[in-house]
Amino acid sequence: MHTTYSDGACTPSGLVENSKKAGLNVISLTDHDSVSGIDEAIEAGKACGLEVIAGMELSANYNGSEVHILGYFMNHRDKSLVESLTSFQVARRERAQRIVDKLNKMNIPLGINDVLEHVTGDSVGRPHIATALVNEGHASSYQQAFNKYIGDGRPAYEQKCHFSPEETIKLITQSGGLSFLAHPGRSISEEILLQLIKAGLDGIEVIHPAHTPELTNYYRGIVNEYYLLESGGSDFHGGEKDDTEILGQYTISASCVDMMRRRLVS
Ligand code: AMP
Ligand code: ZN
Repeated sequence: MHTTYSDGACTPSGLVENSKKAGLNVISLTDHDSVSGIDEAIEAGKACGLEVIAGMELSANYNGSEVHILGYFMNHRDKSLVESLTSFQVARRERAQRIVDKLNKMNIPLGINDVLEHVTGDSVGRPHIATALVNEGHASSYQQAFNKYIGDGRPAYEQKCHFSPEETIKLITQSGGLSFLAHPGRSISEEILLQLIKAGLDGIEVIHPAHTPELTNYYRGIVNEYYLLESGGSDFHGGEKDDTEILGQYTISASCVDMMRRRLVS
């Protein structure tokens, strides 16, 4: 789940409080390119009896398209991890500027400060740009901002410059964590999947709001076939994403988490 340290609407403690109310026992914060909210969430979790697993969501480039990889249980203070995340955050800031430049060329007078005023954490992303476009009167809604300007393949879209999936998996492994392919949906070919598994991928996010029962079964089959781990969750953001009702609705069994812990010690 995401917090104000990337593009979520809740603070880490707010997210812990809402998760507790939603009946969850164990959660993970998976901010984009940021681990800054983890300590606050762990502390808030201790106070109310909710376990918080350190997590993050990284974007990787694969032949011009994006693959998202989740890291769980990593040491979020690991020096080379923190250095890489800082470089991703800088790359995100530069990419936001490139998107703003493209919008300006389309005669949309949005300034980078109109975007940055919505950034509460470390990682500026397209959700902040969408919010700024609506706020400044250049888009009628958050969704329209994506559809018209900044969604994948739209005129002001810009890629992020990050690691390859192999490098991303290595970064997670070297900081003591487990790597999971995030919400693969229908967009991942079996060829890419096999390449990621060969590169040391630990598991797949089987449970996700975007997965139909068929897709869930399909990925659970892959997990079993290749001795991988199953993860899952709501990918909750809150706020503009208007997904409040999904919090607590997408869960995995405690045994899946136990299997992750076993893999960590083996
Ligand atoms: P970024 O990491 O900056 O590329 O932003 C990715 C985030 O933007 C995703 O996690 C979604 O929350 C949001 N997003 C991307 N594409 C769309 C879209 N077509 N419609 C709505 N939200 C989107
Ligand atoms: Zn997000």
